Amino acid sequence: MKKHNFSAGPCILPAEVMQKAAEAVLELDGIGLSLIEISHRSKEFVAVMEKARSLALELLNLEGKGYQALYLQGGASLQFAMVAYNLLENKAGYLNTGTWSDKALKEANIIGSGIEVASSKDKNYNYIPKGYTIPEGLDYLHLTSNNTIFGTQIKEFPKSDAPLVCDMSSDIFSRQLDFSKFDLIYAGAQKNMGPAGTTLVIVKEDLLGKVSRKIPSMLNYKTHISKDSMFNTPAVFPVYVSMLTLQWLKDLGGIDAIEEVNEKKAKLIYSEIDLNPLFKGFAAKEDRSNMNATFSLTDEKLKDTFDAMWKEAGINGLNGHRSVGGYRASMYNALTLESVGVLVDVMSDLERKA
Ligand SMILES: *Cc1c(COP(=O)(O)O)cnc(C)c1O
Repeated sequence: MKKHNFSAGPCILPAEVMQKAAEAVLELDGIGLSLIEISHRSKEFVAVMEKARSLALELLNLEGKGYQALYLQGGASLQFAMVAYNLLENKAGYLNTGTWSDKALKEANIIGSGIEVASSKDKNYNYIPKGYTIPEGLDYLHLTSNNTIFGTQIKEFPKSDAPLVCDMSSDIFSRQLDFSKFDLIYAGAQKNMGPAGTTLVIVKEDLLGKVSRKIPSMLNYKTHISKDSMFNTPAVFPVYVSMLTLQWLKDLGGIDAIEEVNEKKAKLIYSEIDLNPLFKGFAAKEDRSNMNATFSLTDEKLKDTFDAMWKEAGINGLNGHRSVGGYRASMYNALTLESVGVLVDVMSDLERKA
């Protein structure tokens, strides 16, 4: 039986995407060859890459607005360095809202000068800082829209004259935003749009070419733009599955449609966390993530019972990250409202039994 997969990433993908991906590994669209044994320069794969790139811009409503979509390798973690390499000349600001922001800031400081504009480290990142001052003259301001580990999400983005760079690894394509406010967006595919192995980068072209340093070809966004994301061999399978996932999302009605479901899922779990005396939430209420709900038991003695119950119900991937403890329910686009219902039922069953 297929489990209810609450894994934080790599994570659940739509069942029909899995089916199509499996078929393409055996034979791509009746061509007598597998997706993973053809040249990335073949017309079949070039069409896949083009579609993956254009779907990304279309879903984000960024077509014809000076943006390029790239599928790169090295994960979101390489973007921590690549962003700085391409954009950091004098100083850049970083909003430190968790482990990933912290790592991004550290990488920036290897390359140049990264400034922490605000941090929520004082409370183990259980909230999003507000009311901070953004210094003048930044090359860019770096944000992490959703903090996968801590379960917080930026609801209101800061206003700044500096170009906005955002790590959207764990909430891209999950909610409607004015994406044209951002100058560069990046996201590792494995949280909300595909398997591990490729990273989507959306970059406004006029942002590039302003730093004085020499940039190695593979780290230079311009290289990848000029070669349509085919400078070297792309991650053909992850790009293909990302394309399928974006097509799935488009057929569903795009971000507006999925956002509605994601809000229902989040409401369902958070109301259980708030109403059930056996559980408490980790993140500050106003900053709660619709993607990753972090919570714990109020009485640790119930741990073994609860763990046995959710495993029995076919739930997978509920353990919290080691830096937070407790539980984390990751509810990415492909996770159904029904799966969240199963978890909520287990939580209320525990209350009845305890
Ligand atoms: C998972 C994650 C990363 C790291 O992604 P990799 O692809 O493993 O490098 C970075 N930022 C956020 C917000 C994440 O959730």
